[in-house]
Amino acid sequence: MENFSQKITTLEEMAQHADYSLIETLTPDPQATHEGEDHNPRQVFSGHYVPVKPSPISHPKYVIHSKTLFDELGLDDTLATSNPFIKMFSGDTSELPEPMRRVGWATGYALSIYGREYYNQCPFGTGNGYGDGRAISIFEGVLNGKRWEMQLKGAGRTPYARGGDGRAVLRSSIREFLAQEHMHALGIPTTRSLSLYTSMTERVKRPWFREDSRSFDPDVMIDEPTAIATRVAPSFLRVGQLELFGRRARKREHPQALEELAQIVLHAIKREYADEVDSSLPFSEQILRFATAFRERLTALVANWIRVGYTQGNFNSDNCAIGGFTLDFGPFGFIEMFAPDYQPWTGGGEHFAFLNQPNAAERNFASFCNSLKPLLESEPAALSRLEAIESDFAITMQRKMIEMWSAKLGWNRLNVPLFNDLMKLMIETEVDYTILFRELSSIPDEMTPLMKSFYSEDIDKNLMMRWKEWHQKWRDSLEIATPQAKEELSQKLKSINPKYILREWMLVPAYKNAQSGDYTLLYELEEVISDPYAEQSREIEEKYYRKKPSELFDIAGISYVSCSS
Ligand code: AMP
Ligand code: MG
Repeated sequence: MENFSQKITTLEEMAQHADYSLIETLTPDPQATHEGEDHNPRQVFSGHYVPVKPSPISHPKYVIHSKTLFDELGLDDTLATSNPFIKMFSGDTSELPEPMRRVGWATGYALSIYGREYYNQCPFGTGNGYGDGRAISIFEGVLNGKRWEMQLKGAGRTPYARGGDGRAVLRSSIREFLAQEHMHALGIPTTRSLSLYTSMTERVKRPWFREDSRSFDPDVMIDEPTAIATRVAPSFLRVGQLELFGRRARKREHPQALEELAQIVLHAIKREYADEVDSSLPFSEQILRFATAFRERLTALVANWIRVGYTQGNFNSDNCAIGGFTLDFGPFGFIEMFAPDYQPWTGGGEHFAFLNQPNAAERNFASFCNSLKPLLESEPAALSRLEAIESDFAITMQRKMIEMWSAKLGWNRLNVPLFNDLMKLMIETEVDYTILFRELSSIPDEMTPLMKSFYSEDIDKNLMMRWKEWHQKWRDSLEIATPQAKEELSQKLKSINPKYILREWMLVPAYKNAQSGDYTLLYELEEVISDPYAEQSREIEEKYYRKKPSELFDIAGISYVSCSS
């Protein structure tokens, strides 16, 4: 029977759910221009946001929308291909129905790389010109009982555009679109994908790699179609954003600096931690609870990333969401051949490598705590409690990592010697991380199935012996009494160790075909990665449950990506 539940089918209905808490409770830049026509790089000295009007892409065409998210938000699928919706989410807000606002907003933020404060990424060298360069939020509201913000990526320049054109290309938009929905399907908190439209006429140039290039740096400029993807989250507040206000307050940069910091902290608590932080508590107590709750989410997040092989690639403070979810899928990658120092981004450096992410998170958490400190200056007791919360990050993180590795291996408690042996074997044998853990999840009686994950072709006898021994000890460590217990544990392991992950070589043909208007592969890939723990069809298994093909090793744009997006 047809479902006549009250799904939203028009923009007018959606407009009734609008509720712009950020722009209504926070302070706009007092120097903002009228009507959001504010598209040239400039310094923004104060205020929490800048009203900016999006610049639509010309001749937008529907590429994809997330049916899962539409369903969660109570939006009817037909909206995604309806003209008013296409217009809005390809950047044309000129005719939005009331009470939707026709001017969006961009926010400034500061940048710390691995805990170190930077100012020189801003063209003015002051940090006042750094922020959302091409991301513009256009909606905030309560849909299906939850508050969401919707943000266009690639809808033109903002005052923070620096040298950029404010656009995003179809390639990077598809990567982010799929990765967000994949992360969600993996059960890991993340920004979500709403919709993606591409321009049939407008193209921009981006540095990229020649075909089969092995160059580390982009070696050619390519012409690519522009696109606008809309991402959705409870908020887009970042650690870097609190830092901007924390730095200004610390330096007494203007008379309202401390107040602006307090306002954005309260706003962050309300948007992201309303359930955990009681708003009737004294402010300093709220701050401490906020920090504790964020520490909990951030450590869980990073342990989960490592569980599924995700590497953020550029885990700066400005790519670290206050809500503790995954944000900004640029130079990301899912690990294939296991290496602790795996880093998909050529510019990323070791500090953001796969197994260093707990340390990178700790640095971001320190940046976060520093930005709160000016608010506790007159309360030494609270300040020292904040410092204790900060210094306990490492131990909290370690606990989460131990739990995660134990769960991946079917243990209640980490068997340290067996775990360490496995790490060594994984490195020496060059295993595919996903395939190895998935094969283990079947709890095989022999070690042969594990060999499906081996990249090395000549495994010497000695190494094989070590694998056999390891496998035997691991089997014994599981203490499985009955076949039923084995089956139960196996099912559990399969809900922890995914079968399908979004590998770069799967993305490349999907976005290349999409660039010429063929979305078949994109849709197929979306389906595969939206159900990553399931056993799918034989055909899908053969195509997607595979190690990286050997001819693709070291190929630029597949084995690694540049930041260009
Ligand atoms: P990302 O490395 O993607 O996190 O971007 C770093 C900063 O550069 C962000 O503040 C972006 O908004 C900005 N940015 C990246 N690409 C562009 C672009 N094409 N135009 C304007 N700003 C950009
Ligand atoms: Mg970013």
